[in-house]
Amino acid sequence: MAALNTDVQDRIVWRTRSGNEVDYCASVVWDDLRQGQAEVPWANVVWFPQSVPHHSFLMWLSVQKKLKTQDIMSRWSSSGKTNFNLMCCSLCTTGLDSHEHLFFECPYATQVWNGIKDKADIGAIPNIWERIYDHLLQFAKFGRAKHIIGKILVGAAAYFVWEERNQRLFSTKKRSADQLVEVILTTVRMKLHTMKFKRTSQANNVLQEWRLPRGLLMDEDDGG
Ligand SMILES: [Zn+2]
Repeated sequence: MAALNTDVQDRIVWRTRSGNEVDYCASVVWDDLRQGQAEVPWANVVWFPQSVPHHSFLMWLSVQKKLKTQDIMSRWSSSGKTNFNLMCCSLCTTGLDSHEHLFFECPYATQVWNGIKDKADIGAIPNIWERIYDHLLQFAKFGRAKHIIGKILVGAAAYFVWEERNQRLFSTKKRSADQLVEVILTTVRMKLHTMKFKRTSQANNVLQEWRLPRGLLMDEDDGG
């Protein structure tokens, strides 16, 4: 009959699906229980350490085209008689309220996009979501400041265009395209204020362009 060994410290173990016993840890258990999937190509476009969480959530919906635009909602109407405000874009009141129109074919959204795309270093990319998305995919895993800022800016632009579109549908408040550009740039500038930059000439240019203090450059001791 086995006796308890009081000399050995108790420990919590987890028996994995393959039968191995490992020290208990929430991340190990999660990895063991979940059904693993191949990483989706847009993972690093949507989720990255410097991303703004509520912008990432909107990007997550956007890259899958899951935003509830009126063209999509009309397909849910079984009778087909629901009046979705005549399917009209609330930003320009002329185009169809659809994903493609909002990002960024709509004249209002185009004006917003034109106000920020140079700062995202994607001035030459057409105002077409697929082209913008394809471009972001190319450098999704890159760590240079301009690539990270590009992703933050596109996420902020999509978020605030969508927010303005909703606001106009459900209230009488309106912001001009120039005002929205300012909101986007101010939001991104505040985000950049929370980041640290490696000491490179490129980082110096970024700080100047965004009028950020040089204190955001990492000291040599920080590994920069
Ligand atoms: Zn429009």
